[in-house]
Amino acid sequence: MKPKIVIGNWKMNKNFDEAEDLISEIEEKLADYNFETEIVLCPPLVYAELVTDHANEEGSQFYAGVQNVSEYENGAYTGEVSAEMLAGMDVSFCIVGHSERRKYFGETNEIVLKKMLRLLANDIVPVMCCGESLDERKSGKHFEIVQKQLEESVYKLTPEQMERVIIAYEPIWAIGTGETATPAQAQEMLAFIRSLIEKKFGTEMAVNTYILYGGSCNAKNALELFSQQDVDGGLIGGASLKADDFFKIIEAGETVIKEN
Ligand code: PEP
Repeated sequence: MKPKIVIGNWKMNKNFDEAEDLISEIEEKLADYNFETEIVLCPPLVYAELVTDHANEEGSQFYAGVQNVSEYENGAYTGEVSAEMLAGMDVSFCIVGHSERRKYFGETNEIVLKKMLRLLANDIVPVMCCGESLDERKSGKHFEIVQKQLEESVYKLTPEQMERVIIAYEPIWAIGTGETATPAQAQEMLAFIRSLIEKKFGTEMAVNTYILYGGSCNAKNALELFSQQDVDGGLIGGASLKADDFFKIIEAGETVIKEN
């Protein structure tokens, strides 16, 4: 079993002092351990330099990530930040296609693909989110929806590009709601996603691709979710804002690895 990946998505939370404090608290908790689990912190973009400074310190146990990037290369796009700029700041991971960006900022599968290509060209790992709404699940369309999201994004990548992508399945009905997918529901969808990758890119790619679960994953349910065969870790929103909870989720990843 490969090591787990735990990614914290802070969303638009924390003022500067709070962001500094949270990073320091996480560092303190990690200091006594040498975890195999890969840890990524994705604070708001404006704190990118803060998190990369810490991630670059000797012995740091986490990587720096952000939550968004421009689909454009460079130029007259007021307010945007390019992948090249992120790379210049040593950002290693970037979330794309989060359901909140799809809902509030019109991020389509086509835009998600453009953003992934910009990130990959700059050696930043895209964390590509997919997932269905409650209505889509209730009407039994969840597999179809997720398949379409993949077909219109990662399916268009070359195998060399696909090798560097992380997929996060986040059912919209579970994000920030406190309602988690059951471990069986998470496993079922992640196994389906893996089967799609296998069909398109082959068995080796399917085995190696990291597929994460996200949606109200917390200190209490992480162990059971991470114990599912196809769950390679988690994309964590609310619970990544408290160092204690985030640390327990990382510990859950570590426990599963040690037991297997
Ligand atoms: C997220 O926003 O990526 C997420 C999983 O949020 P939460 O854990 O709060 O449901």
